[in-house]
Amino acid sequence: MAEGVKLACTTCGQMNRVPAAKLTANPKCGSCGEALVTDKVAELDPATHDKATRGDDLPLLVDYWAPWCGPCRQMAPEFAKAAKTLEGRARFAKINTQDHPKISERLRIQGIPLLILYHKGREVARLPGARPAAEIAAFVTGKTPAQAG
Ligand SMILES: [Zn+2]
Repeated sequence: MAEGVKLACTTCGQMNRVPAAKLTANPKCGSCGEALVTDKVAELDPATHDKATRGDDLPLLVDYWAPWCGPCRQMAPEFAKAAKTLEGRARFAKINTQDHPKISERLRIQGIPLLILYHKGREVARLPGARPAAEIAAFVTGKTPAQAG
């Protein structure tokens, strides 16, 4: 951990290294200056999606959704609430699968809403269906043990 925690900027895609102790100190992207760790849900495009899901050291939970999907829209505030609960512990993002259908194809997504949890560049687990905030947060903490130190 001496070299810090790798995080892709969800705005510009730049990989950053953040000292673990600074994760909760509002670290900024070295390239574009946007906040790297927030309690907000980041909107991804395919490029930032791939960078973050393949490069992040911090757990990353991605909500695969579409505007036509009622359960997706219902879950959005719950997802946002869970993001606030886990600020600094995990990052939350979403990607619009209607605008970016190739992502769904590649990941073999059959139905939405679907949450996929990534950690250290690998897919860890999937959670299908609309879920309440507490269940979303428990899914993340249960599947990705807290880092020591
Ligand atoms: Zn950036």
